[in-house]
Amino acid sequence: MTVMTPARCALCQKEAELKMSHVIPKFVYDWIKRTSATGYLRHSSNVDKRAQDGHKLPLLCGECEQRFSVAEKKFAEKIFSAHMDRREQSASYQSWLYYFLMSLAFRVLFINQDVRDREPDYRDDVDQALVDWRMYLLNDDTALPSYEAHLLPIDPEIKISSLPSFMPPKTAFYLTRGTDLDVVTSDKYMMVYVQIPGFIIFFTIKPKHQPFIESTFIGEQGLISLGKPEDRQVPEGFLEHIGRRVRDAFPEMNSRSQETVAKSIAQHPERAAHSLSVKVGEVVERLEGRPIAEEEHES
Ligand SMILES: [Zn+2]
Repeated sequence: MTVMTPARCALCQKEAELKMSHVIPKFVYDWIKRTSATGYLRHSSNVDKRAQDGHKLPLLCGECEQRFSVAEKKFAEKIFSAHMDRREQSASYQSWLYYFLMSLAFRVLFINQDVRDREPDYRDDVDQALVDWRMYLLNDDTALPSYEAHLLPIDPEIKISSLPSFMPPKTAFYLTRGTDLDVVTSDKYMMVYVQIPGFIIFFTIKPKHQPFIESTFIGEQGLISLGKPEDRQVPEGFLEHIGRRVRDAFPEMNSRSQETVAKSIAQHPERAAHSLSVKVGEVVERLEGRPIAEEEHES
């Protein structure tokens, strides 16, 4: 589907008929649907109306969509599926991983440019990052820029009991089945934050180098441990940040909506029986909770 009015592509900035692009890639929503008890997604901004697909925005021209899809496909197969299906304990990567993480960060920063007004101290850094990232994403044969990509795999079967007691009850659900994105700022840093099932991603804006989270650093090439990754360092204030995001993402669904979910499970018990959400004993969470959280980006 294309938008009829020509507009500028976020990446190459040429006037073109833009594709309706996913900010969080489609393979993520496909996985959530495939493994959910009802086969539907729920968007937090309209929680009582079931959506068949993830959020889409007119962002990229066809050529740039193609450009992003190469690294995205590699990430989906070699990292995401390998981790979520518990197929591999580790995965080797080349510069396509950095490219994919930057392409994701670029989309998130692009749609969140109002952060320039909310955080005027970081305005020049946001502008510079968009210029630098565009340059790399259009010419990925150059050296890796000094902005850092960080990828933190989360145990796909993580239990709330293994998290600090101050974390809200739905944290495990949020980390293993939800999606979230934002540009996060403190007095010490600004970075892009993206959460997809089983992974948390940071992409630095300022400072470009984050010395406190070396264990999640993604360079030109390397090996990343999957499955049940060992403890990693996380940035200061990180757990508190996650806690806030979880509380924002899970205000209660109304009871009629819970009935609809229950009915859908009753009508398709075979789907429910094979779904991960049932397998990990989280039916109750599904009935009460909301797997998708992209609350800021729909209005
Ligand atoms: Zn383009």
